[in-house]
Amino acid sequence: MTIVDLPATGTAGGPALPQERRLVTAIPGPRSQELLARKAEAVAKGVGTTIPVSVVAAGGGVIVDADGNSIIDLGSGIAVTGVGNSNPRVVEAVTAQLNAFTHTCFTVAPYESYVAVAEQLNALTPGDHPKRSALFNSGAEAVENAVKIARHFTKRQAVVAFDHAYHGRTNLTMGLTAKNIPYKSGFGPFAPEVYRASLSYPLRDGGLSGREAADRAISQIEKQVGAENLAAIIIEPIQGEGGFIVPAPGFLPALLEWARANDVVFIADEVQTGFGRTGAWFASEHEGIVPDVIVTAKGIAGGLPLSAVTGRAEIMDSAMAGGLGGTYAGNPLACVAALAAIESYEQDGLIERAKEIGTILIGRLNALRTADPRIGDVRGRGAMVAIELVDPATGAPDAALANRLAAYAHAEGVLVLTCGTYGNVIRCLPPLTISDALLVEGLEVLREGLRRA
Ligand SMILES: *Cc1c(COP(=O)(O)O)cnc(C)c1O
Repeated sequence: MTIVDLPATGTAGGPALPQERRLVTAIPGPRSQELLARKAEAVAKGVGTTIPVSVVAAGGGVIVDADGNSIIDLGSGIAVTGVGNSNPRVVEAVTAQLNAFTHTCFTVAPYESYVAVAEQLNALTPGDHPKRSALFNSGAEAVENAVKIARHFTKRQAVVAFDHAYHGRTNLTMGLTAKNIPYKSGFGPFAPEVYRASLSYPLRDGGLSGREAADRAISQIEKQVGAENLAAIIIEPIQGEGGFIVPAPGFLPALLEWARANDVVFIADEVQTGFGRTGAWFASEHEGIVPDVIVTAKGIAGGLPLSAVTGRAEIMDSAMAGGLGGTYAGNPLACVAALAAIESYEQDGLIERAKEIGTILIGRLNALRTADPRIGDVRGRGAMVAIELVDPATGAPDAALANRLAAYAHAEGVLVLTCGTYGNVIRCLPPLTISDALLVEGLEVLREGLRRA
């Protein structure tokens, strides 16, 4: 079977792939099955798969597989391709860079694009104080470095993370992450001096206000850790893998205020919420908070691996020269991709688009919720919205229903992701380049899935 005529990249001004859901085989089709059989023989089992396909192209709001199926993308490769796959601006910038040079190691022989990304991050992140940035490869690597820097600056060691947190899969970030299976079980021992505090989780908090939930966390921290030992608290302004939990208003500002008063570095992990995803450059803006340090990755570079730590100049400059870096950190291909992606967020109106997507998602999912008590909650901001599925009688998490619904959507050509400590949350993270028509069609498939599940 031949697949559709695919240009190598999108064309300026719009995605080149037909923007449609199209199923020409069952999922997985024969070619995808072939790849999955090879994967099982060649790739470590711990590297999982959400949807069983063999991808050959993606752009706009679709992913095309080797069998010619065109799948509606409500995942963006986990919130990475905000500007769309093979965004034309990104393709052009990376192609030019590829032909100029691919690597010198910034800490050996520096280049302009790295500095330009740092300047952009310093300007775009909340707060007009002097800032510095350092670039890395992955979200986890950036989180590790944010903690390193906070410890060096404060000369303290303890770090507080929160219930339901997700910060990555390296040793320190596994320790910061809350959920045991699949992220931690059997992978210890974990790094010392990591402590956990309670989050504000409005659905399951018994009606605590943001202020009350913050007081609870602060009391835990003061009684169990002690501010004088605490280098940093790290928190996702909206939790990602943990279930798209939006804390009650006032929770984050109260924590930040306490951190300031106690010389504790406040680190916002905006790896998933950053870069326009929530309808603002950074989710911290919705709460009016100015974190001391912000960690970014995922949506930063249109799909190329890049991450960053951006923070107050005095904190960031505390580490000695040579203390921060990495062979590939701030690779020139990734840096020019980030500059092009930032240009796309700005020039193509994508942050505004994230708000529009949020209006559609929240409106439609709330309408579903009204008719279906198994949807216990609809929450999120912008193009980061989830439903939490529950037993209507008890409110208990219903992971089985979430899994059935996701499996139905995948079979019908709609890629959604599950998440949450209890595995009962279905999340929507579409590329900001998705059309209204595709988005609505994807949600219609979810509606039908709920009817059948
Ligand atoms: C994905 C994620 C990370 C880890 O990023 P990687 O690039 O996978 O290492 C850290 N924090 C948050 C909030 C994330 O969503």
